[in-house]
Amino acid sequence: MAKGKYIMHHCAHCDRDARMELIGSTEQQPDRSWYRCTRCRHVSLLNVTELRRELEDSKKKLDRAEAAEYTPEKTYRIGEAIFHTDWDDLGKIISKERTSGGGSAIVVSFEKLGERRLLENVVPSPDTME
Ligand SMILES: [Zn+2]
Repeated sequence: MAKGKYIMHHCAHCDRDARMELIGSTEQQPDRSWYRCTRCRHVSLLNVTELRRELEDSKKKLDRAEAAEYTPEKTYRIGEAIFHTDWDDLGKIISKERTSGGGSAIVVSFEKLGERRLLENVVPSPDTME
């Protein structure tokens, strides 16, 4: 039972990716198990079969042909694949953030470079040109 006791999952309670500890199963729903978030201790009933499928999906190699080319002027959706031409790297948008200047940023998990933050929805204006 020691194997597979922990899974990585996005905890809906504390709203972050956390390690979840398997604490029990239900007889009524054999494909669901109780997991406790190691961050906030919140217990959730998770469908393990579905999670495994999601994990496999997320591991799938990104396709260059399906990825949108990154430009700061565009806006993006979480889960969208993008290609950064300068870096020659493919990435998937994992979340969005507000920048300190009130702008919008995307957090991208790149295949080679790892996690990077990029601006989006940038309005080109002569005033901001260096
Ligand atoms: Zn949590």
